[in-house]
Amino acid sequence: AGPDLDKVAIAEKLGAVGQVVLVMANKGGCGKSTVAAQLAYQLAADDSQEVGYLDVDLTGPSGPHLFSVADEEVHQAQTGWQPVSARDNLAVMSIGFMLPSRDDAIAWRGVRKTGLIKQFLRDVDWGEHLDWLIVDCPPGTSDEHITVAQYLGGLPNVSVLLVTTPQEMALLDVRKQVNFCHKAHLRVLGVVENMSVFVCPCCGHREQVFAPTTGGAQAMSAQLHVPLLGAIPLDPALMRACESGTALKDSASPAYGAVRALTARLQA
Ligand code: ADP
Repeated sequence: AGPDLDKVAIAEKLGAVGQVVLVMANKGGCGKSTVAAQLAYQLAADDSQEVGYLDVDLTGPSGPHLFSVADEEVHQAQTGWQPVSARDNLAVMSIGFMLPSRDDAIAWRGVRKTGLIKQFLRDVDWGEHLDWLIVDCPPGTSDEHITVAQYLGGLPNVSVLLVTTPQEMALLDVRKQVNFCHKAHLRVLGVVENMSVFVCPCCGHREQVFAPTTGGAQAMSAQLHVPLLGAIPLDPALMRACESGTALKDSASPAYGAVRALTARLQA
C-alpha cells in the first residue's frame, strides 16, 4: 500500500499549528467541554494569539452554544471549510453547525463518523496561522478517538489534557484514558480535576461535594505518573458563563483563578 495521503495532509496541516491540545474525559458531564471552551477563551484573551476550537464530540456538540454562535453556519470555500469566528482571534468548528436544528441527534455508524472527523482534521481553513487548536473530544475512547489517534498520534505538537471529577470511578477511568493515550502515541500533558470543591459564597466554607473515595486526584496523578495540572472548583459563575456562551469573567468567582492558572500552565 502507498502512503496514507490523508495522514500526510493532516500531519502537514496540523503540524503547522503551535500546539494541538486534545481535551478528553472518560465520562460525560464531568466538565470536559467547559474546561476546553474556557481554556480557548483564556488563550484568546491574549490578542497576539490565534486560537481554534474544534468540536469532534459528534454525539453532543456543545461548541456552538459555548461560544454563542449557535445560529451561524459553516461554508465551503476553495481553501476549505470556513470555521465560525467567535472573536477576531478565536475560530470555532463543530458538527453542531451542520445539523438542521439544535434538537437533532447524530446517529451515525463508525465509518461515517470517522470520515467526518478526518475531514475536520484535514479540510478546515483555520487561516494563515494557529497558535493553539483546542480539540473537544467525545467522552470515552470510541471511534472518534481512534480516528483522532490514527491521524494525530506521534505528532510532536499534539498532547492530551484529561478532565476528571474527584470520584473514584472517574479516577479509575483516567487510568483507562492514560493507557489509551500511551498506546496511541499521544503525549499526556496531565489531568485537571474539575468540580473539586464548592466554596460557600456566604461563609467561605470549602465543601468537597464530590468527595474522592480513594486518595483523590493527587494520589492518582502520582500513581499514573501524570501531572495534576489544576483543580477547578464547582462554581455557579462558571456554569452560568457556559449557559450563556461566554468567557468566565467574574474575577472574584472561585473558578476564575483556577482557569487562569491552568491556562498559564499550558503556556509555560
Ligand atoms: P462534558 O463536556 O464533560 O460532558 P460539560 O462541560 O458539558 O461536560 O459540563 C456539564 C455541566 O456541568 C454543564 O452544565 C456545565 O456548565 C457544568 N459545569 C462543568 N464544570 C463546572 C464547574 N466547575 N462548576 C459549575 N458547573 C460546572
